[in-house]
Amino acid sequence: MGTVSDYFGSLVFDDREMKANLSADVYQSLRKTIDHGEKLNPSVANAVATAMKDWAVARGATHYTHWFQPLTGITAEKHDSFISPAPDGGVIMDFSGKELIKGEPDASSFPSGGLRATFEARGYTAWDPTSYAFIKGTTLCIPTAFCSYGGEALDKKTPLLRSMEALNRQAMRILKLFGNEDVKCVRTSVGPEQEYFLVPKELYEKRKDLIYTGRTLFGAKPPKGQEMDDHYFGVIKPRVAAYMADLNEELWKLGILAKTEHNEVAPAQHELAPIYSTTNIATDHNQLTMEIMQKVAAKHGLVCLLHEKPFAGVNGSGKHNNWSIATDTGVNLLSPGETPYENAQFLLFLCAVIKAVDDYQDLLRLSVATAGNDHRLGANEAPPAVVSIFLGDELMGILDAIENDKPYCAAEKTTMKLGVDVLPRFARDTTDRNRTSPFAFTGNKFEFRMLGSSNSIACANIMLNAAVAESLKIYADRLEGAEDFETALHGMIKKTIKDHKRILFNGNGYDASWIKEATEVRGLCNYPTTPDCMPHLLDKKNVDMLTGHKVFSVSELESRTEIMLENYCKTVVIEANTMVDMARKQILPAVEGYCAELAGTVASKRAVSPDIACGYETGLLTKLSVLTDQIAVRTDELEAAVLDLKNIASVTEESYAIRDTLLGKMAALRAVADEAETMTSDKYWPFPTYGELLFGVR
Ligand code: ADP
Ligand code: MG
Repeated sequence: MGTVSDYFGSLVFDDREMKANLSADVYQSLRKTIDHGEKLNPSVANAVATAMKDWAVARGATHYTHWFQPLTGITAEKHDSFISPAPDGGVIMDFSGKELIKGEPDASSFPSGGLRATFEARGYTAWDPTSYAFIKGTTLCIPTAFCSYGGEALDKKTPLLRSMEALNRQAMRILKLFGNEDVKCVRTSVGPEQEYFLVPKELYEKRKDLIYTGRTLFGAKPPKGQEMDDHYFGVIKPRVAAYMADLNEELWKLGILAKTEHNEVAPAQHELAPIYSTTNIATDHNQLTMEIMQKVAAKHGLVCLLHEKPFAGVNGSGKHNNWSIATDTGVNLLSPGETPYENAQFLLFLCAVIKAVDDYQDLLRLSVATAGNDHRLGANEAPPAVVSIFLGDELMGILDAIENDKPYCAAEKTTMKLGVDVLPRFARDTTDRNRTSPFAFTGNKFEFRMLGSSNSIACANIMLNAAVAESLKIYADRLEGAEDFETALHGMIKKTIKDHKRILFNGNGYDASWIKEATEVRGLCNYPTTPDCMPHLLDKKNVDMLTGHKVFSVSELESRTEIMLENYCKTVVIEANTMVDMARKQILPAVEGYCAELAGTVASKRAVSPDIACGYETGLLTKLSVLTDQIAVRTDELEAAVLDLKNIASVTEESYAIRDTLLGKMAALRAVADEAETMTSDKYWPFPTYGELLFGVR
């Protein structure tokens, strides 16, 4: 295989390959498109397409696909081969600029939330030249955005790119005010830390719940869980180490900067973190990472579970979205600077984030809402459903001094005035001691920790970028018209701190008393479930902001609300149906089988001596008979509850019925089935147990 630097990015048509395979003119035009969004002219597009195709064919590719991210949250691809008939009866490998730039998949089966009437089945995909093309198997994959013919976004990529542009526009205005003339653009960067579980494939295949829903719907607690804390950062088992090595190699070939890996808190749980990159590329790379994780697992006889809560009773999996804003000149705008001006600029960007997170708590919350993540948020293992910001004591002290016109530390005599005084030296290492905050400042970036492990990171970053763009717009509007820049700046930072300090919280986010304080004293939003938060996407303030920055149109927002709620309902209904199936066809027959054995034992013992004691068998038989009756009744009730949903007309009402009724019935059935599991002989239990799944990889 050679050394990593030899094969890193070997499957990517990256800048090195562009330079090597394109004429100087074509390369320059393409760079302009990539760096400044200039339109690609057709002859350049043709030249790029041919070079890309030749490069891919030389590496074994036979097909190409426009690779996109529909609203299902996973990626989609339709493969077309390069072959084109030649007059002599043979074929040539052909790929035109037109095919590179635009594709027309039959899109009628992708969710569109009513945006695209089915008679107009086609949407189109458009090349995103800022994300490099790559080879997967024998297919050249071209990252694209996916739109309807009316121009409405049908994917997650398009609004993400729009949100990045919105933030760029507003941040540039601010930077100009601070006299940064050399900056050409501002981009957000993201490093998503990805958690996952690995379970043995042969055990996975025996569980319908894992196969159909990605999580276990039944399962009694094993004798050992995560209570010993012996897994986190523990020695990685040889089989898992081999998997990780293979995974790294595959990711590196795709130019993905896989960097850190370790065991997580729960048994069988692990984490992979990449080095950060520009948000749209990080999003593409995270989608690919999730896909490759599953592929490589299969090669190792394993299954990679990306569900947020595959197992009850042990930690679920999240995804930490490390996020920052940087200029094309390499300045991290969330890093405290050296000069007073840089520090004032840092504080302004910091305040923009604080204001954004407070003003749009609901958008951040709903950007991570799925049926799966509902099991995780607030379960004492992940941040609560209430959004708040952790800044660390030092930065809190600085903000407090500014707000109250007092010296930052007792030894100092003067109060701080931005733009004049130097920010006290800010020790980065003292931050990030808080692991329970949903949104933590970690020295030069924020870590948004509410994302679920299977979430596309696009949604969270769309909301984050747009909300921060809105704060910056308000700041820029005021500062551009200010008579005295420094006074206006100081006043605005002070006002932001005063108005939004309710969102700042350095304490333990897992504490029940915090939720009480957050909601009752501070008035922060608490939306525990997806049905609670999703409708707020259409609140006027949110629609105004998102359409104002051209991140979404009204109809796109309406369709997305519909799709997300539909997704929630479908997910839970599939889970409920799977439970009914497993209870009737597997659990009840298994328990009955064991009961029959017990009854047989009693009968044969009594045949030997009619009044022999059979207390153990009859006691157990009685308990199990009560449980089988309960399982049967609760299964029927669950089935009826699913049927009742059919009478509900709106998806919002259906989601409420699921939240208020169906989930409770699922929990009730599970409780009796799990109890029966603890009393039934292993010999009869019809599928692998928690213990086997969690400790089965050796
Ligand atoms: P910690 O251990 O505090 O979580 P790390 O330095 O290990 O911090 O970084 C965690 C993740 O944050 C990595 O994916 C890293 O690439 C990413 N990261 C670091 N700096 C930035 C930045 N400026 N913007 C976005 N992500 C970043
Ligand atoms: Mg981290």
